[in-house]
Amino acid sequence: MKCAYIGLGANIGDPIKQLQQALDALSLAPKTRVTKTAAVYRSAPMGPQDQPDFYNTCAALDTQLSAHELLSELQNIERAMGRIKRRHWGERCIDLDLLLYDQQRHNCPILTLPHPGIGERDFVLAPLIELTGGDYIVFGKDSVGDMFKRLKNVSVTKLPATLSAVSPSKACAHAN
Ligand code: ADP
Ligand code: MG
Repeated sequence: MKCAYIGLGANIGDPIKQLQQALDALSLAPKTRVTKTAAVYRSAPMGPQDQPDFYNTCAALDTQLSAHELLSELQNIERAMGRIKRRHWGERCIDLDLLLYDQQRHNCPILTLPHPGIGERDFVLAPLIELTGGDYIVFGKDSVGDMFKRLKNVSVTKLPATLSAVSPSKACAHAN
């Protein structure tokens, strides 16, 4: 069993609802369990400014899928939820990134691990720190807490919205 961390984001449609739908879909993925979710954070868009604010969160997973299999599951969920690529860093109904998978490193365009954007993004680091604690080391030397402290601009707002880690159908399956 491996532990993975996923970054989730959305900024069109009903973003918080879509974050929950993606978590529900993830919790139904094969050999995978969503163990923990962070709060939802709102921030101004990183790319083009003529688009709505983003809503982001992170989730911790236990999985027996390989990193590539898990990435495929994430992409299947994005497709099933109707994600269309419009422009770089543009608006999207859902974005699912594989941030960390166990202690694995990959360096290819299809799968880069740890996800290269982690250290520069307050909307990734803030929810990730909730799940891992600030001392968690990424990239061999840097802790997520230190990376967050080094950010020049922190503009995320933590929202009171709560997301559930277990989809209703899986909760039922556990209960029976
Ligand atoms: P972004 O998340 O930067 O807006 P996309 O979601 O459109 O971009 O992803 C573009 C590509 O990034 C995908 O084709 C995917 O194969 C690749 N990719 C590489 N590493 C990762 C990763 N760790 N998590 C998610 N996608 C990744
Ligand atoms: Mg992505």
